[in-house]
Amino acid sequence: MERRTKIVATIGPASEDPATLRRMIAAGMDMARLSLAHGPVDETIDRIRRVRKAAEDEGRTVGILADLPGPKVRAAAFPEKGVYLNEGDEIELVVANGQSGSDWRRIAVDDPDLLAQIGAGDRVAIGDGGIALHVEAVHGDRAVALITTGGRVRGRPGVTVPAARSSIRTPTAADLRMLDAVCAAGTDAVAISFVRSAADVERARAAAGPDGPMIVAKIETQEAVDAVEEVISASDGVMVARGDLGIRCAPEDVPHYQKQIIRTGVAYARPVITATQMLETMIQAPVPTRAEVSDVANAVFDGSSALMLSGETAIGKDPVNAVRTMARIAKRAEREFDYERWGRNLESQKVAETRGAPAPVRITAAISAAAWRAATDAQAAAIIACTNSGATARAISRFRPKIPLLAATPYARTARQLSVAWGITPLVVKPQKSTDEIVWFAVEAAVELGVARTNDVVAVLVGNPVDPEPATDVLRLVRIY
Ligand code: PEP
Repeated sequence: MERRTKIVATIGPASEDPATLRRMIAAGMDMARLSLAHGPVDETIDRIRRVRKAAEDEGRTVGILADLPGPKVRAAAFPEKGVYLNEGDEIELVVANGQSGSDWRRIAVDDPDLLAQIGAGDRVAIGDGGIALHVEAVHGDRAVALITTGGRVRGRPGVTVPAARSSIRTPTAADLRMLDAVCAAGTDAVAISFVRSAADVERARAAAGPDGPMIVAKIETQEAVDAVEEVISASDGVMVARGDLGIRCAPEDVPHYQKQIIRTGVAYARPVITATQMLETMIQAPVPTRAEVSDVANAVFDGSSALMLSGETAIGKDPVNAVRTMARIAKRAEREFDYERWGRNLESQKVAETRGAPAPVRITAAISAAAWRAATDAQAAAIIACTNSGATARAISRFRPKIPLLAATPYARTARQLSVAWGITPLVVKPQKSTDEIVWFAVEAAVELGVARTNDVVAVLVGNPVDPEPATDVLRLVRIY
């Protein structure tokens, strides 16, 4: 059986060359994440083209997720090899100008309002929160802080001031300009950073327009955790962004929030990506720690649709090995996953997103639950979701059926967006005029792929292709002669 949990890998200087991209795809990268926090938009657009070409060369469906930085404040670059900030030393915080760099005596911060947002006694976190400063005094053009927890810093780490003081708002004007550019370059999905409410997601969706990409809400603020149902219901996918979440919330809350976000995302049939520090030591080392292996396996057991690699593939020593290692851990964990129990639990909970939802959503949710039950009882060899937008495939995917799950769609973009949905093998098929033809060609595709053969039963979910308000309203159990 193919691996069911998908892998999202971040592309950066260590992984952007064509040969490495192809090897990462061959090793199991299902979706490429391009972070707009670290370089110019043109670099991202160039990477979109490179990923597309590599996927084409490998003959694989690979989605692209452009990750907008949001109002994250960063330090100006530290020297390339990094510097060590020693506990007990004093350091200055200043506002960065065009030429500033940061070093062990002075951190230049990319926020003109920095000094208005901090006061004596505040804690400022650097990077993923491991390094902490205690602000002692703020003078006219600088603040003086004591390093309370030291460590090595490289690149442009984030600088986090106390939440109550920050005037954090997403998407920012710069995000919206980047959104335009990546939409024009054909990204399949866009991640919105530092979402606090459904309204933030809706603003991004409105800016992207009706034919815009999938909107993925990154859950990394306490406000988003507190409003998780509304945020998820407004989004097309969700990311457990554990790095920033662990700075803004108590780190010991993060594993519990992770489970809660995954549970809610699955109930709403949204793909959930669990992210950050999954195989962190593999940035340098050829093997992960035992704790990292457990973390990845547990994220699979929690029900993640996808697992994400960040620095491991963007700047790591061996991005291909990181993808291969993650694929191996996920596949091994899936052998222990109790698919039947997962589906039964979900069926008994009923489907959350149908409350007050429009009729097509209610119909798709109900028929996908029926398809899971029927496919189980009829011992079907596979389930095929015929889908235009991908919603039907995501609806059945939430039941985590053990048998192969195919999504047959006439749209290449839908296929690429489904590359992040749990267990789905996306297939691009020719558009058909009638429900009967759609079923026929979908079953034929399953046979060609080798997931069904003569005498097998296949469950097919399909709607009427000419319905003005499309809903998946047909379930067929097809016997293959
Ligand atoms: C995170 O904070 O976990 C995350 C994925 O966001 P970024 O790496 O873009 O800061």
